[in-house]
Amino acid sequence: MTDPSQLLTGNIDVIVIGGGPSGLSLATELKRQGFPRVVVLEREAQAGGIPRHCGHPPFGMREFKRILTGPRYAVKLVETAKVAGVEIYTQVNVVETRPEGVLQITSDFGVETVQATRVVLATGVRETPRSARLISGTRPLGVMNTGALQSMVFLKQRKPFERPVILGTELVSFSALMTCRHANIRPQAMIEPKGRTTARWPSELLSRIMAVPLHRNTKLLEIQGQGCVTGVLLETMQGKQQHIKCDGVLLTGEFIPEASLVRGGPLELDPATGGPSVDQFGRCSDPAYFACGNVLHPVETAGWCWNEGRQIAKWVAQDLIAGLPTTDRKGRVLISDPMLKYAMPQYISDAQGMASLQLRVTDSVKGTLVVRSGNQDIWKKRINSHKERRILIPLDVFAKQQLTGDISLRIEP
Ligand SMILES: Cc1cc2nc3c(=O)[nH]c(=O)nc-3n(C[C@H](O)[C@H](O)[C@H](O)COP(=O)(O)OP(=O)(O)OC[C@H]3O[C@@H](n4cnc5c(N)ncnc54)[C@H](O)[C@@H]3O)c2cc1C
Repeated sequence: MTDPSQLLTGNIDVIVIGGGPSGLSLATELKRQGFPRVVVLEREAQAGGIPRHCGHPPFGMREFKRILTGPRYAVKLVETAKVAGVEIYTQVNVVETRPEGVLQITSDFGVETVQATRVVLATGVRETPRSARLISGTRPLGVMNTGALQSMVFLKQRKPFERPVILGTELVSFSALMTCRHANIRPQAMIEPKGRTTARWPSELLSRIMAVPLHRNTKLLEIQGQGCVTGVLLETMQGKQQHIKCDGVLLTGEFIPEASLVRGGPLELDPATGGPSVDQFGRCSDPAYFACGNVLHPVETAGWCWNEGRQIAKWVAQDLIAGLPTTDRKGRVLISDPMLKYAMPQYISDAQGMASLQLRVTDSVKGTLVVRSGNQDIWKKRINSHKERRILIPLDVFAKQQLTGDISLRIEP
């Protein structure tokens, strides 16, 4: 193995941090556009991102016109990038971002500094761990997120428990059910604090097919057990408590961007998404940096992130060749309405760039979504949406307008 820092010298056009679907598609597109040196730095031993351990279909329909499992899809993304000429370095962890595209990296060879003309953050998301969920009880072994379960089952062929309960009903929670089925693990229950499942119907059919009881309007009060998990205590909205025997707890969803590089560096963080704030070109507050994929918006599918990587590659290329319009960070998108969880991009200075503004709501909501620029409402649409559903506002709305300062979003009854 060669010290990566010896190979990461000379003029590097673009360094992509993170070898998941978005980072790999962005890097591949840049190579196809003819840039001599495009590098992906990946901290894991293999590139491919989260799909590497999602051992189920459907992945790849948009990208390869075929239905693939996650691991097969990850391999194809890596192969495609390599064929295009992308340099991929694995087991390289980026630990610090500095102004002008300077990065501090660590590998088996120690700590080094590398630099590129442009850097793209494509570091993805992770699920909220137990520590941040404030679940009471003891601290036994057997409490984990879906990502940890999937990497144990699919990458290490290990089974951490036999009869867990699953907290959450997002799409990833049903993906966890499929992982359990694959490993012959028998979940005892799925628990959802709200009155409805978060993932769209018919995802919940899977819990019925697998005979896993779905407890809606129920919260996880306490995890029990000393060395290992022995049970959980649940409580319904009406205050009725129930004990379930189990040997593990799977905490699913509640995604947060992998944004430690933003928190400690020169880039502005958007508290609403938890990722870097970007303009409509995916450009960060330091114009040497761009971002793409789920680090921008918890959470989208692999196909969506792959496509976004391809799109943002075009603006990175344009920036390197002729320069994008200067970033004055006017046109801030403000979400003062508590029903709105986040909006991305966080700055819109003109109508070029991304096709749409992406939003999420905090809970089920029916009403009129209103976009205001200056002292004028410039766009309205009736919405009937639920938590974790994508809402899109076409950015050509802003093409027809004289943008005057900040843009605010609200929901009217
Ligand atoms: C547990 C889980 C299950 C999921 N299941 C599905 C599913 O079934 N179907 C689906 O469509 N989507 C699923 N998703 C959503 C998933 O995020 C997307 O499918 C897709 O992987 C997003 O691509 P990405 O490129 O944005 O990020 P990722 O795929 O997360 O890739 C980011 C990469 O960056 C690397 N990285 C992070 N920080 C650093 C650093 N500092 N230095 C170097 N490398 C770094 C990571 O190791 C990772 O390889 C799941 C997500 C999770 C967390």
